[in-house]
Amino acid sequence: MAKVTRTVVVKSVELPRKVFRAFVELEGMYRNMVERLVLYAVSNGIKSFIKLKALKYREMRGLYLQLPSHYVYTACQDASTRAKSFLRLKKLSLAKRAYPEVRRVSIWLDDHLWKPNDLTSIGIATHRGWVIVEFEPHRQYWRYVNRGWRLASEAKVKLDKKNRQLIIYMTFVKEVKEYKPKGYLPVDVNENNVTTIVDGVAYLFETGTEKLVLGYYYRRKRIQERYDKLYGKKSRVKKKVLRRLKERKKKQDIRWKTANIIVRTAYERQYAIVLEKLGKKPAQNMIKKIRDKQLRHRIFQASFIGIQKAIEEKARECGIPIIYVDPRNTSKLCPIHKAPITYGNGSRIGRCSKGGELWHRDVVACYNLLFKALWGDGSHAPSPVGYTLLDVSPMPLETKATHDPIGISKSLWARWKSLPQTQFATILDVMKR
Ligand SMILES: [Zn+2]
Repeated sequence: MAKVTRTVVVKSVELPRKVFRAFVELEGMYRNMVERLVLYAVSNGIKSFIKLKALKYREMRGLYLQLPSHYVYTACQDASTRAKSFLRLKKLSLAKRAYPEVRRVSIWLDDHLWKPNDLTSIGIATHRGWVIVEFEPHRQYWRYVNRGWRLASEAKVKLDKKNRQLIIYMTFVKEVKEYKPKGYLPVDVNENNVTTIVDGVAYLFETGTEKLVLGYYYRRKRIQERYDKLYGKKSRVKKKVLRRLKERKKKQDIRWKTANIIVRTAYERQYAIVLEKLGKKPAQNMIKKIRDKQLRHRIFQASFIGIQKAIEEKARECGIPIIYVDPRNTSKLCPIHKAPITYGNGSRIGRCSKGGELWHRDVVACYNLLFKALWGDGSHAPSPVGYTLLDVSPMPLETKATHDPIGISKSLWARWKSLPQTQFATILDVMKR
């Protein structure tokens, strides 16, 4: 059993002025406590919530006796989290100031400070008593409610002062049981596609990450340069123009759609997903300042990790086991002869140095991921159950049409929910001819 948590954000209805004022007062007191606590924690090197609470509870409690006492607890939790991440940055000498700035505040609530009232409203304990806040549920919220997720005891609220609304962050929790895999679905994520082998047939989902990532990078840079010159670095106009690019949204869209297809394909067949084990390096690289030469590589890395993370997240929700294997040499060795494959200049098609047969680079990677999982080369690979090596016979290009990768353009797969059986058959048919 694994615990999966998801945060859902809902907005309250527009609150009456008097009610909203109470939340503004509450936020002010909460902020003040967090500011004091962070300052104290950082100057004394305290990272632990328990220690911070033990040292400062009495003082904070005395500060605002009108507040429900549990706000001191949550302020301590909030502050210790901020202090911890600031101290870590400081250690890496990445902190810009001597002390952290408490800019954006969301009020942390524990089970004494809030409770669900009904399905579309919650109660929040304030210095003016319990206040019932109605919120506007959306599709995503109902999906979690209706699919057996339960609400966690912690929540957060942020104030939207312009619209007199509360932004409520609720956490849903579900216990998911991993199933025993009946087979394996290897998934190779790279610059331009996500490749997978389903029961011996290779699929190449074109993502066009290269074009998308680089395109946005240069567009963003051009906008920044132009607007910085005209209006200075922190102009609103620039922010607005950048927002209009919808970069984040488009990248996330691709991410979730690919993840959905992969996860559904695995779930329908009750297969485990086999992924490359990514090192810790990429994340470190993102913090470090990197020379321009490596930039290309870095931004691609970031987007691979994004797709892989999305697959992991969705898989965990559905109880799909994930097997991580060592990514070394996955695209370099022939899956049949274990001999190196030589690729022509920049080509994705290579020739086996022993057998002389042709291979598609991404398909090779997938086969090797699959074999590594089958042979227990992965870090958490279980012994293959009901699945023998005879079930997978790697086929190079041009021996049998069904073993050539089926390239599927983004415009096509973006509308799919999983591998459609009918379209699947048509494509196969076209490929055979
Ligand atoms: Zn070979």
